[in-house]
Amino acid sequence: MLGPPGAGKGTQASRLAQSRGVPHISTGEILREAVQAGTDLGRKAKMVIEAGQLVSDEIMIDIVNDRLGKDDARHGFLLDGFPRTVSQADALDNILGGREPLVVIDLSVNDDELVRRLSTRRMCELCGAITGSANGSPTVTCGTCGGALKQRNDDREDVVRQRLIVYRQSTEPLIGYYQQRPTFRSVDGSQDEEAVAALVGAAVDGVTS
Ligand code: AMP
Repeated sequence: MLGPPGAGKGTQASRLAQSRGVPHISTGEILREAVQAGTDLGRKAKMVIEAGQLVSDEIMIDIVNDRLGKDDARHGFLLDGFPRTVSQADALDNILGGREPLVVIDLSVNDDELVRRLSTRRMCELCGAITGSANGSPTVTCGTCGGALKQRNDDREDVVRQRLIVYRQSTEPLIGYYQQRPTFRSVDGSQDEEAVAALVGAAVDGVTS
């Protein structure tokens, strides 16, 4: 699933993975877990993430190669946040080799809406659930597990601006990379969660049936 930060990839990927019975593989989540655990990877990734930059292709490709080699990904998976560069996309094609073709869904949302969503979204410290906050007054506990809700360090306004620049430079070219493939679909991600989920589901069905 492709799209700029704030397009709703995490939310939509999590719903779709659950409804299709495949693992939801979020590279951002894998990195945040490593930061929490204080591993070598986490120490390297923390500064990069908080500066709104991308972790190196080499590290990310290794992570995804390992993860896709696990048993639960043998019959399908949903990648959220990977690939983010053309090198990562090339590597993904190599990793997948003879498997079924990739279905690529691009969620498109305009910049004003992205900044609005990112500046008001909160993430649960315990379960990772993402919540938006209506009219700028954030709720403080997670509706799913009751954990405390926190703003991600990289959702601060200055970092958000940098992430959007990096998206335009490094990730947006992936639309051109994939759009000639018959399994590519672009979905309007600016509507509410339910409406976008219906569009995403229909797009996936349209290219897999
Ligand atoms: P996300 O949760 O997908 O917004 O990712 C959060 C941050 O993790 C990004 O802003 C990057 O710094 C880093 N990250 C996640 N996935 C990748 C990737 N595929 N390549 C490089 N950096 C990544």
